[in-house]
Amino acid sequence: MFGRATKDDRWEDAYRGLLTELETKERQWSAVETDLRRAAAQLAIAAMGQSTTLDEALTDVVKVVRGGSEDIDAPLDRLSAALKRAEKYASASQIERMAYPSDADSSEDPARIAESPTTGNTAASTTTDLDIRVVINALANRLAKIPELSQIAQQIAQQPQTNDQQWSDVLNGVADSVAQVVSSIQTQRNELEGFLESVTTQLAQFEQWTQWHLADTKLRRDDNTSLEQAVSEQMEGLHEDVQSSETISDIKTSVQQRLQSVADRFKQFRETEANRLDEAEQRNSKLLGEIARLQDKTTELSRLCGDQAQRIMFDSLTGVHSRHAYEQRLLEEYQRWQRTGTALAYSLWDIDKFKSINDTYGHDAGDRLLRRIGRIINKHKRAEDFIARIGGEEFALLLPATDTDSALVIANRLREVIADTPFHYRGSPETVTLSCGITEFHDGDTPLSVYQRADKALYEAKNSGRNLCIQA
Ligand code: GH3
Ligand code: MG
Ligand code: MG
Repeated sequence: MFGRATKDDRWEDAYRGLLTELETKERQWSAVETDLRRAAAQLAIAAMGQSTTLDEALTDVVKVVRGGSEDIDAPLDRLSAALKRAEKYASASQIERMAYPSDADSSEDPARIAESPTTGNTAASTTTDLDIRVVINALANRLAKIPELSQIAQQIAQQPQTNDQQWSDVLNGVADSVAQVVSSIQTQRNELEGFLESVTTQLAQFEQWTQWHLADTKLRRDDNTSLEQAVSEQMEGLHEDVQSSETISDIKTSVQQRLQSVADRFKQFRETEANRLDEAEQRNSKLLGEIARLQDKTTELSRLCGDQAQRIMFDSLTGVHSRHAYEQRLLEEYQRWQRTGTALAYSLWDIDKFKSINDTYGHDAGDRLLRRIGRIINKHKRAEDFIARIGGEEFALLLPATDTDSALVIANRLREVIADTPFHYRGSPETVTLSCGITEFHDGDTPLSVYQRADKALYEAKNSGRNLCIQA
């Protein structure tokens, strides 16, 4: 009845799968953290002996590294030797290989960040500047592989020339954030492990209950049989006594004794049965409590998983859908379009001259602008349309049951709303505009071919003066 049914096993399998996923994530992030601390140490070592300030920075960084990793001495010695050797090498790729000997294919990584402006200027740079830039770029490439860190990777790769102490601070700052992620993953993992443990314990209790129940049934059957036996023995005895008794008084005594014995057996049977019933009731109510607790835990865990799924679906900065949600939705809309043939329009949006807003008013102001633009698009798009942030300052808007002509009208309205909204920075109103490329699905199209066509139209809009929607 309460055996380890397949359903329970499936639950367990699902949670164990989740656990493995979290473990993999934790390993990935821990590796990033190690990389960051290693790069911070390299920077400090690269600067050794250049000036007293940098030597002090070295001491600090080494302290941090010692605090952050258990077995850091050997890597430090190796890196130090590698950097001394690096002086002899002129080419950036050789140094990069020394910085990350295990990451042999990093130079072919498709997610590779563009080389920073300082890297190209090798003739004017000192060897140490070059080393640092190369280490930074190698690190940025590594970080770019993890979607959540690609933004940071881009920032690191584009960071203007900074002194080594600042670099060390930047990297250690990033490493601290990564360490926080690792610890939150660990917490989640512990929660899940705890849950699995309690599920296992509770399943074991269910099993025990089944055994009790079986044992109870057997005992009751045995008791019944022995009661029946006892009664029939007394009846047979009575029969014999009646035959062999000589006086009525003898018969009376014998009948009384035998009836008393049967009554005792019945009493004993009833008491045993009552005790057993009490115990079973207690066990039942305990079991019901366990089931309720298990249900609560499962509900809580499902909510937790649901929250996480929800977080993955939305972009935390702007509140619009995430790239992950966009990929799912685009595929669904594409399949629907294939099935029904109903028009499906697609548009790509990119904020104009966004870099100059970051440069003039700072990155935080840029973030605030992204958030406001996300809100405006969300508010003004049609309910059936789907908006997602698919890159730094790029959005995609899907317009189901809409052809390009109608999509163009809708897009131009949206574009004008944003262009007419003043954005205030340090008190002064600024106009912010977006450019947009629009297309719709045609026979033989795939999500990729449609994206490429819209991207081309967007490029045209940029080249034609920006604040434009162009149809392809
Ligand atoms: P264009 O009109 O040609 O699109 O020019 P642009 O300056 O908008 O384009 P570019 O691609 O040169 O610059 C985009 C900038 O967006 C660079 C990057 O630092 C910034 N960016 C990307 N993601 C974010 C973010 O999340 N927050 C902030 N503040 N800036 C970001
Ligand atoms: Mg862009
Ligand atoms: Mg832009």
